[in-house]
Amino acid sequence: HARRIEGIDKNIWVEFTQLAADYKVVNLGQGFPDFSPPSYIQEAFCKAVNGGCSMHQYTHAFGHPPLVSILAKFFGRVVGHEIDAFEDILVTVGAYQALFCTFQALVDEDDEVIIIEPFFDCYQPMVKMAGGKGVYVPLRPRVEGGKALTSADWVLSSEELASKFNPRTKAIVINTPNNPLGKVYKREELQVIADLCIKHDVVCISDEVYEWLTYDGAKHVKIASLPGMWERTVTIGSGGKSFSATGWKEAVAQGFQREYELFGTPESYFLQLPEMLNHKRKKLATCLESVGLQPILPEGGYFMIADISSLKVDLNDPSTQGEPHDYRFVKWLIKEKGLATIPVSAFYSPEHRKDFQNYIRFCFVKEDSTLNAAEDILRKWS
Ligand code: PMP
Ligand code: GLN
Repeated sequence: HARRIEGIDKNIWVEFTQLAADYKVVNLGQGFPDFSPPSYIQEAFCKAVNGGCSMHQYTHAFGHPPLVSILAKFFGRVVGHEIDAFEDILVTVGAYQALFCTFQALVDEDDEVIIIEPFFDCYQPMVKMAGGKGVYVPLRPRVEGGKALTSADWVLSSEELASKFNPRTKAIVINTPNNPLGKVYKREELQVIADLCIKHDVVCISDEVYEWLTYDGAKHVKIASLPGMWERTVTIGSGGKSFSATGWKEAVAQGFQREYELFGTPESYFLQLPEMLNHKRKKLATCLESVGLQPILPEGGYFMIADISSLKVDLNDPSTQGEPHDYRFVKWLIKEKGLATIPVSAFYSPEHRKDFQNYIRFCFVKEDSTLNAAEDILRKWS
């Protein structure tokens, strides 16, 4: 194999999705809905498939024209200025491909890319494949006496962040709402990042695949909408995440068309989905708290991390010896209790991993019956 893929042949999704499949488990691990997309999106998909032979052939290389047109119209309204459908937008196969293309297009050999931890794990290998070097800066929990923690309590130190910028810095990657933490960056937090990007002439890559999923009044802000940032930001969204379905083009175009018309009304899916998920979020948080797994309440996304440090379990499985504590715990939970989650240290760089091995991630974009089954498992054992 090529040198550029050395050490990046493994990832947590391959490892833990296989493990969850090998054991019969309740799966709150990998992030995907276990319910169907809304019916109008399914109908749009069928219509596209049955829409005559041209629907099955190549479309415009940078994006299907009806899709880029409605995306320009829709997001033009969000950012408050005109977007050029054929200049400013690129359609890819998922946010994964968008991230890959962005790093390949922007990062040169030995360029540095600042990555805020915890981060969606693919950023690191993708930067490496482009020849770049990841430079890591963690969000740190600001602990205040006894109060229930939320993802808003995890913050960047402005000084620490500023210290990572230097003449080799090409880009910074942010993810809001964050996977796995659920943090939704406030405008002031984004402004600190934007000021540094402008000062050092750095590009911002903003992964916003969970942009519609915010709770308790948290407001998603696009860093590209801050002054001076439009020209230096690559904003990444996901049709798959937005409509609970992946990889669709014409159907996604019709979904955005419908949202364009219904946005702000109760029929908007971008309102209905977070409302539905908010119930699931609270249900899971209450359950975790009641069994002594302190949750960090997420302001966005569909994941929740919880502190496992107070749980006393006997992890003497020799097959996992030497692995981080959260990896061993998650494997034990799958094998012994039949519940799948994801270890959070996988979302950190090797140098910071040891400081963050006491959290595991639960996914709550699941049927209530799935969440109830998880709750039964947790209550029985604690
Ligand atoms: N970014 C983040 C933060 C994610 O959680 C995911 C996983 N869904 C992706 C990107 C990839 O998204 P997609 O399924 O659209 O490729
Ligand atoms: N983004 C999803 C998650 O974080 C799924 C990732 C994957 O399966 N590759 O769980």
